[in-house]
Amino acid sequence: MKTAGRIHPVYADMERTVFDRMSALAREHGAINLGQGFPDGLPPPALIEAASRALHEKSSQYPPGAGLPELREAICGYYARRQGLALSPEQVTVTSGATEALAAAVFALVKPGNEVILFQPAYDAYAPLVRRAGGIPVSIPLSPPDFRYPAEALAAAVMPQTRAVMLNDPLNPAGTVASYEELSGLAQVCAAHDLIAICDEVWEDVRFDGMPHRSLMSFPDMAERTVKIGSAGKIFGLTGWKIGWMIASGHLATALSRAHQFLTFSTAVPLQWAVAEGLLLPDTVLDEQRAEWAASRARLKAGLTEAGYMVLPNAATWFLTVDLAASGLALKDSAFSERAVLEAGVATVPVSALYQGDQVPEHLVRFCFTKPDGVLDEAVQRLSEFKKELSPGG
Ligand code: PMP
Ligand code: GLN
Repeated sequence: MKTAGRIHPVYADMERTVFDRMSALAREHGAINLGQGFPDGLPPPALIEAASRALHEKSSQYPPGAGLPELREAICGYYARRQGLALSPEQVTVTSGATEALAAAVFALVKPGNEVILFQPAYDAYAPLVRRAGGIPVSIPLSPPDFRYPAEALAAAVMPQTRAVMLNDPLNPAGTVASYEELSGLAQVCAAHDLIAICDEVWEDVRFDGMPHRSLMSFPDMAERTVKIGSAGKIFGLTGWKIGWMIASGHLATALSRAHQFLTFSTAVPLQWAVAEGLLLPDTVLDEQRAEWAASRARLKAGLTEAGYMVLPNAATWFLTVDLAASGLALKDSAFSERAVLEAGVATVPVSALYQGDQVPEHLVRFCFTKPDGVLDEAVQRLSEFKKELSPGG
């Protein structure tokens, strides 16, 4: 049997994700891992305690497919408190991380031949999911260093077969945040052209600009056409728990839960209990965690700057982006990342790995800063030496 020919074309030549590759290289070479995004610190103790209590005291059998009622309720309470959204639990489906929510949303809403607009850089799951659903990804590049969302470009890209747009705000890898005006412009285009907005808002509460997150869902005419995706992995720094969710209204919400029931049906129930408790904790718990991340961000930024790297402004996420060209380095981001992990012992992510289409910048590298001080200092030391080797004169 010629099994190779049986593989779906989307998966035929697919590589492992850049995150998985970089983490594997880091393990293999004993490098400091500033590549794949995850915090090294301990998660809030209250969540660990809640998960262990749930393991001992609660049922370990299938929860309802759409998620524990207590968690769906807590998600609504959380968004009412932090974003002023009026949601009901029926609108919420709990998923195995935001990744599953993205898959469910695309499979539920994209039909063969539909065009789906993806702003670039785009999280690496988006395009393959759209293609697997038979859709056609259409790229709109965002320009560094601001990565502003251009409503005019969105309007210009809309074709009769365009059905949806995928939006990531705050934006991974850049760590930028869309302004009210940008979101308002995008919302107007979505409403005018009857587009569905699949909004990946996993970084909504990892913001350092002191501003509350505003969902595209809250703009006029958007509630009925938005899928809002969130992840406890980011909110609490628990990436391995893989508890996420998706929120929509009416027919969309029903379709999402139908797609979810044949992807995973449900997800780890003790962790659902713990996240439900976590979302009810006072905001000070989140504030403390964010203050730690902000201190790490400042530390890495200062260290990299001191070492001669030009760090782009960022307001959110666990990532800083370095502009190699502006740092006096002529090599491509992929070459920098490959060499840095082998020669300097520091894993990073080349930003071009998160771009599709043309106009791919090749001078930006992403560094994850949610690591203990000693790890960041050692990484900076190594990167400082590495920079001297790369550009002996400068
Ligand atoms: N979307 C974006 C933009 C992300 O950065 C991530 C994870 N880094 C995900 C989705 C996936 O989230 P999860 O781990 O909850 O599946
Ligand atoms: N989204 C994470 C990051 O940006 C990685 C997630 C993954 O490895 N699947 O680093």
